[in-house]
Amino acid sequence: MAAFPFPAGARFDIVVVGGGIIGAGVARDAALRGLSVALAEQSDFGSGTTAGSTRLIHGGLRYLEMLDFRLVRMDLRERETLLRIAPHLVKPLEFLVPFYDRSLFYRAQLRVGMRLYDALSYDRSLPGHRFLGARETLAAEPRLCERGLQGAAAYFDAQVNSPERLCLENVIDARRHGAVPLNYTTVTGAVCAGDGAWTVRLRHTRTGADTTLRARVVVNASGPWFDRVATSLAPHPGPLIRTTKGIHVAAASASRSAVVLFAGDGRLFFVIPWLGYSWIGTTDTDFADDPARARATPEDVAYLLHAASPFFPCLRTGEVYWSNAGVRALVRKPGKESSVSRLHRIVDGADAGAPGLISIAGGKITGYRAIAEEAVDLVCRKLGSEAKCRTAAESLPGALAAPAGRAPSHLESLYGARADEVESLAREDPALAQPLAPDSPDVAAQVIHAVRQEHCVRLADFLLRRTLLGFRPDQGVKTMLAVAPLMAAELGWTALETAAEIEHYRTWVAESQAFRDGAGSAAGPRPESPRDPSAGAPTASSDTGGASAGA
Ligand SMILES: Cc1cc2nc3c(=O)[nH]c(=O)nc-3n(C[C@H](O)[C@H](O)[C@H](O)COP(=O)(O)OP(=O)(O)OC[C@H]3O[C@@H](n4cnc5c(N)ncnc54)[C@H](O)[C@@H]3O)c2cc1C
Repeated sequence: MAAFPFPAGARFDIVVVGGGIIGAGVARDAALRGLSVALAEQSDFGSGTTAGSTRLIHGGLRYLEMLDFRLVRMDLRERETLLRIAPHLVKPLEFLVPFYDRSLFYRAQLRVGMRLYDALSYDRSLPGHRFLGARETLAAEPRLCERGLQGAAAYFDAQVNSPERLCLENVIDARRHGAVPLNYTTVTGAVCAGDGAWTVRLRHTRTGADTTLRARVVVNASGPWFDRVATSLAPHPGPLIRTTKGIHVAAASASRSAVVLFAGDGRLFFVIPWLGYSWIGTTDTDFADDPARARATPEDVAYLLHAASPFFPCLRTGEVYWSNAGVRALVRKPGKESSVSRLHRIVDGADAGAPGLISIAGGKITGYRAIAEEAVDLVCRKLGSEAKCRTAAESLPGALAAPAGRAPSHLESLYGARADEVESLAREDPALAQPLAPDSPDVAAQVIHAVRQEHCVRLADFLLRRTLLGFRPDQGVKTMLAVAPLMAAELGWTALETAAEIEHYRTWVAESQAFRDGAGSAAGPRPESPRDPSAGAPTASSDTGGASAGA
């Protein structure tokens, strides 16, 4: 199979470097405006910071505290947009901010903050905030520590179970509108000719094949790789971003709603219901290494468990299944990591002698669509196009409102309206209707669909970014053995290649559990090994967890 679906030197209006949520959003927006687009992602779509996030679609109370009103307002507006264009993926979630032994002044501040948050989301469909007394708070969250509890503020934001699939749906829609998405394709450099057009070098990371394409505009949307990529594109004045690592752990469920807590050092963190777990995070520490190497250390995990267990004593002895890590790309500014604004910055290369280069630094998942719109507006100005942005009005391909009178099926909760593509494969070949594991609602047809329709190339792509199987307590290790032969047959892997894929995934799993080697004493005894999925354990089925909380 040819590595690239176009001849060397093929011409595009725009090439997007980086297939995270922001690059995918740019590709979709540009394609919907009729521009010809190539989207190059060095690994899998959505596998970078997008996969390392807390998975909230939120304005962010914390940013209100930082007086970042512009960011909060933009993200609250975008929260509404995403609830509308991706209702199968983005769901309302209730949050509680419990307060303990707090002064009258603190509680008055919290009231003002809540009113402001409501005011900034004046166009919301979600309920406004309310205050609960101690008894009501404990009724809502029975495992919350009672001592000193005075009450809680309750408010709504939203959650996306799979930002990986949110990213992918942008890629798929971009493709439907003519874009050429290329995963496992690294942009290795670019040269801008006298006529302003760029020659961009690409390398296929699986085959090592090289090619070039020509583009009138290059958009650097490489997230925490931003400065590395910028250096390979044009003379780069110096680092524009600051990179900080944040980790999460998937622990035995402690809360029903998302709970906002403060660590001993004053940092805000969350205990969130997600796929039957408590998803606890995050940390914020400077990280200068290759973002692909970010992992949770025992110290990171200990920090979170120490912070959370005074509020949820059950976390002292509850299981911690696995961890993940992501690297933020923050617009560079000195100061404490958590004090740096999350507001994005779009830089027009024209100001630095590279007129066809647009750089996107920073940003959140929540605001990705608006950030993409701003970037593509600039692209259009450069290309003399008057096409208007359509991404807020047009739903993503799987958009499916909750079916009336019943819960969505497992396939609907993953694929939304596109579930019928999987179902029709299973109807055509009954072998594909078979579950991938005895206790799994996922079926063989999903593997075939992922390879044929969703750019799924590696075993990890399927387990972590096409389905939620990799988020089960066993991280999909058992199912992997059923998936690998199906992918091998579809993609023509040799036995050696299949074994290498399995080994690659096992290594990933081992790394996400490596914290166990040192975190045992952090907050009480930790389990010896991950528990298998069983009654009462998290299921990582997309139709459980936070999505139901207050939806
Ligand atoms: C711990 C943590 C928690 C967060 N929680 C939230 C949250 O709850 N809600 C929220 O809204 N935001 C959250 N964020 C922020 C959010 O995750 C990021 O802002 C967002 O994912 C950034 O997307 P991106 O596309 O810019 O970056 P990425 O997802 O990292 O995508 C950039 C892509 O560029 C690719 N790339 C790099 N170099 C090249 C190259 N040379 N050629 C081709 N491709 C290349 C990378 O492989 C990568 O996939 C969180 C971030 C972190 C770290």
